[in-house]
Amino acid sequence: MTMMEECDFYICAVCFSVSEHPGTHHNREMVYCEQLPVGDERLKPVIDLEGALKTRAPRWFLEAVWDAAGMEYPADLQS
Ligand SMILES: [Zn+2]
Repeated sequence: MTMMEECDFYICAVCFSVSEHPGTHHNREMVYCEQLPVGDERLKPVIDLEGALKTRAPRWFLEAVWDAAGMEYPADLQS
């Protein structure tokens, strides 16, 4: 196992509890989160073209939650 893989974790989309191991929390599958490099765009919340904050959650979380729900990432939130 590499250092990168050891940094991966799972998060509950309901209460944001994190775990190093997959499982369920609040009767939902915990969302897998890969370690992102410092400064990665996905670490930031979604901001529109005018620089206004569209979400408070970082993009990696939104993408992970939508992916877990089997939904496409909404086009109007694409930066
Ligand atoms: Zn939970």
